[in-house]
Amino acid sequence: MIKLEDFMINFANIKLRIEQACQSVGRDPKTVGLLPVTKTHAGWAVEYALKVGLSSVGENRVQEVKEKQPTIAGDCRWELIGHLQSNKVNEAVRLFDRIQSVDSLKLIRKLNQSCEKLNKRMPIFLQCNAGEDPNKYGFDLSEMPEALEAVLAAPQLDCQGLMTIAPLDSVPSSAQTCFEKLSTIRDTLTERYKCPLDELSMGMTQDLEAAIAAGSTMIRVGTALFGHRA
Ligand SMILES: *Cc1c(COP(=O)(O)O)cnc(C)c1O
Repeated sequence: MIKLEDFMINFANIKLRIEQACQSVGRDPKTVGLLPVTKTHAGWAVEYALKVGLSSVGENRVQEVKEKQPTIAGDCRWELIGHLQSNKVNEAVRLFDRIQSVDSLKLIRKLNQSCEKLNKRMPIFLQCNAGEDPNKYGFDLSEMPEALEAVLAAPQLDCQGLMTIAPLDSVPSSAQTCFEKLSTIRDTLTERYKCPLDELSMGMTQDLEAAIAAGSTMIRVGTALFGHRA
């Protein structure tokens, strides 16, 4: 656990990085959202985020959120950013306000069924393995039209954008390529299906500048805000 005052410094530094990245490509910093990633940290990280006015957090495990949620006093939106197993879909639908990691046709089907049962409409992002990393979940670029068609045919799911994770310990230029590919496929899909897909969730501690240059509307930051994970 880090001290609140250290978190405040980290938060100020991230805001500065966002501003500088925006400035260098002529974007308005207001168009880049910051999703604090609180995974592996206990409730303190969520409380810190709420304290500085952030209203959502990113988490990657259903079980962890199930335990953490009751310990949080304030109002918080929970976003799933990690792979979701089929047997946890119902729980995830109950716990999360948005699911960014929709990565298979089977999951689309299961989520829609679960939402029907629980009478809920779920905002989602489609996760795309735009960096063609064999270790990453997500649809291949070539599968994205089929994936979007499946979501558009799922009445309980509201597809608001796309998400990607750049290949790990990649050189900056390969992260950049990955992000540009996600942005391009978004434009192609929007045009073809007349579907807005406003959100591009891409960029983390290491590569947020490249993501902002490529049009990210949401960076997901853990380490630079809360310190290293155990
Ligand atoms: C852990 C995680 C992050 C945050 O990564 P940092 O490098 O700690 O900023 C962002 N996105 C996803 C999908 C993650 O799993």
